[in-house]
Amino acid sequence: MLTTRAPGKVNVCLLVGAPRADGLHPLVSVFQPVGLADELSLAGAGEGAPGPGGADAVVCPGVAGENLAGRALAGFRAATGWDGAPRTLTIVKRIPVAAGMGGGSADAAAALRLAAAASGLPIPAELPMRLGADVPVLLNPRRALVTGAGEHVEPLSAGDGATLVILPLDAALSTRDVYREFDARDRPRDPGELEEAAARLRAGAAPPPVNDLEAAARRLCPAIDPALEALRTAGVERPMVTGSGPTVFGYSEDPEVLDRLHSAGHPAVAVPTAPPELAEVRQA
Ligand code: ATP
Repeated sequence: MLTTRAPGKVNVCLLVGAPRADGLHPLVSVFQPVGLADELSLAGAGEGAPGPGGADAVVCPGVAGENLAGRALAGFRAATGWDGAPRTLTIVKRIPVAAGMGGGSADAAAALRLAAAASGLPIPAELPMRLGADVPVLLNPRRALVTGAGEHVEPLSAGDGATLVILPLDAALSTRDVYREFDARDRPRDPGELEEAAARLRAGAAPPPVNDLEAAARRLCPAIDPALEALRTAGVERPMVTGSGPTVFGYSEDPEVLDRLHSAGHPAVAVPTAPPELAEVRQA
């Protein structure tokens, strides 16, 4: 049996342009993988029950419908021609679902790492982006500058090592709906602005605590404003929405911040940034 972990992410900054001809949004973002991670295991041939029709099976309590990790396994087989016996992929979710923390993409990326290890074949270059804009960066989870529509990933130095305070909300937002709302009501960055921001970040500038999707997410999910206010009141620095939301996060090294949030009824967690070895594939 092979195992790996799939760290979720926060977008330390996220700048968004107008949709390209292919419908995808150009972005400039600093992705930070975090220690809140799903756990995946791929049972070897004969170790688990195969899915219907001899296909790979995915067991993922808490996620209904087609699983992005299953789509990744099927995509890997189709693109590489790998015809090893069907496997069972089991996912224990720890990353909140539809929360802006990239959980589905993280699981898809982890499934590709497992498939590559099981088959001995490399991951086809175009496959991660076909699965989703967050999959390329989460393939090899580390702090990175992401540009294009997600396909360009440049590793950045480790960052300030700050502890993140993450507050998941009891709400879900569809990434597609948030982009649609952004397109309808907000001003996209022009290409020059995105290029300049990417150049500054590449040169080592601190990411601005800005998320261009935040206003759209706040309009669609009224629970976000009080959550941001709760972080601020508890003393969390730079509170903001991650990705398409609704999860909010900020920074604090003060352990009493969590106590204050918990006594006010907010299930906040303190998480470190993810060390790169968290995502290694291991033999269990
Ligand atoms: P992103 O930050 O990449 O925009 P997200 O964190 O907001 O994504 P996900 O948790 O990836 O959202 O879930 C988006 C949708 O994908 C959910 O509605 C869920 O049903 C579906 N999904 C499919 N596979 C998975 C998976 N393995 N984990 C979570 N969601 C999944």
